[in-house]
Amino acid sequence: MDIRRINLNELSPEELRKELSPMGLREFRVRQLEKWMALGVPFGQMTDIPSAMRAELSEKYLDGSLKTAGKLVSAVDGTVKYLFDLHDGNLIESVLMKYKYGYSACVSTQAGCRMGCTFCASAGAGFGRDLTAREISGQIKAMNRDAGVNVGHVVLMGVGEPLDNYDNVVAFMREAHSPEGLNISYRKMSLSTCGLIPGIEKLMAEDIPVTLSVSLHSPFQDERARMMPVARKYRLDKLLEICNIYSSRTGRRVTYEYAVISGVNDTDAHAAELIRLLRGTLCHVNLIPVNPVEGTGYSRARREKIDSFRQRLEDGGLAATVRRAMGRDIEAACGQLRRQAME
Ligand code: SF4
Repeated sequence: MDIRRINLNELSPEELRKELSPMGLREFRVRQLEKWMALGVPFGQMTDIPSAMRAELSEKYLDGSLKTAGKLVSAVDGTVKYLFDLHDGNLIESVLMKYKYGYSACVSTQAGCRMGCTFCASAGAGFGRDLTAREISGQIKAMNRDAGVNVGHVVLMGVGEPLDNYDNVVAFMREAHSPEGLNISYRKMSLSTCGLIPGIEKLMAEDIPVTLSVSLHSPFQDERARMMPVARKYRLDKLLEICNIYSSRTGRRVTYEYAVISGVNDTDAHAAELIRLLRGTLCHVNLIPVNPVEGTGYSRARREKIDSFRQRLEDGGLAATVRRAMGRDIEAACGQLRRQAME
């Protein structure tokens, strides 16, 4: 890889035209190229561009499109997990899920993650770098092309902490929302954070009312800080305070993600404290049957136990659901494919 070459995928349409002008291309060729670049198609797959011209492009420029390095399809529910290779050798994961309401993409925002949550496969696989806005949207474009679908919902819940890559993530959401881009409404985007309070505050000042999804995992400050090192800096009481402000400003309920870990955070005391903290706020608790990750020592709680925990929360006045496990047979938990590939 030659990092000195210009990455055509990172140029705006105007910049692209300017960059290509010395090649003296006819107008229809420029339009063809613009179309392919907007779709995030690799040079080699631009079928109506003559091969000599594709070779010239490869010679002069960096092809920053995402290349599929691995793909697993669930026999259970059709969920597809992709491993994409970035132009510099970094690997990222994305997941395509089919729901009744259409296709939803779970995308990565960083190659790896710095947050170090103890239950997460991404935490153990190291941090590569932030993704650019085009690399985030490129995952959706690549999945749309590969599966012949049109993704209508996006969750920023793949590998990485979105608010640790704030500018690129906001640029992505704006681009994905625009009619010239992916044309996905903000209401169909969900941003998942482990609780970076300054990032949530900044997000509130932007006019992008996406659903905020916060990894909670414990209603007790000390326990949460043991599971998620970031919680030592951004304390639970302050986090809940800012989440309440976010929901009242946007009118959207905050989702609290809660990975149920057997014998760790699924006790009656946990349910009671969750109710005490969250009752009366505009929120929803999403219980996640945790995927066991090698080396973490955590194990999945039994389904009956998760159901009774959910019932307890509902009885206490909270809206609570159990997340449907998608693609269990292909290990769709965040970061596992990447971790295996890197190992
Ligand atoms: S759970 Fe999310 S924030 Fe925590 S280490 Fe994994 S990818 Fe990073």
